Amino acid sequence: MADDEYLALLKRAKEVLPETIENHERFELPELDILQEGKITVFRNYIDVTDKLRRDPQHLLQFLLRELGTPGSVEGRRVVFKAKISPSSINEKIQTYTETYVICSECGLPDTKMIKEDRTLILECEACGARRSINVRKAAKSDAQNVLRVGDTIEIFISEVGKKGDGVGKHLEYAVVVPGTSKGNTVNVKITNISGKTAFGAIVTERPER
Ligand SMILES: [Zn+2]
Repeated sequence: MADDEYLALLKRAKEVLPETIENHERFELPELDILQEGKITVFRNYIDVTDKLRRDPQHLLQFLLRELGTPGSVEGRRVVFKAKISPSSINEKIQTYTETYVICSECGLPDTKMIKEDRTLILECEACGARRSINVRKAAKSDAQNVLRVGDTIEIFISEVGKKGDGVGKHLEYAVVVPGTSKGNTVNVKITNISGKTAFGAIVTERPER
């Protein structure tokens, strides 16, 4: 390669480089300021986060409440959750929200806006013009919904018979023991006792095997 050719290339690279680096600077949210106070959790710089994301505070709030399975509200520049929630799980949900509702998948910038077209939510990038539909993944079941409690009534399929002749079915992570039924039945049971991952249920109604 001739020297002048090389120099010309170098010059071009230098012209292009700073812009490229700038464009790919990672988008960073303000550090979350979260305090647990007894049975509540206070997200103290919530509005700083929604300002940075340029999203409606209520939109992010509804997302967080649904994902975290807790009540809560915006109070001034803060959000107060009526439960003890770890800062790391709030952080994780905000990352998910940012990836889903804010970041352009083409250029990686957060300079986007949400547009509703028919029934589809579109993310339009003001930086590069890319458009994509927002795929709202079904909210993960909150931990609260993954826990069985005494007094819950559940429908369960009796898939096995235990050593003592009791029916046994699976519900979430639990083996539910139901006396007085047989394999193949679907029963509504009220949970009477839970020990580790074994629960005991009393039949409310029973639908026999066909
Ligand atoms: Zn873009």
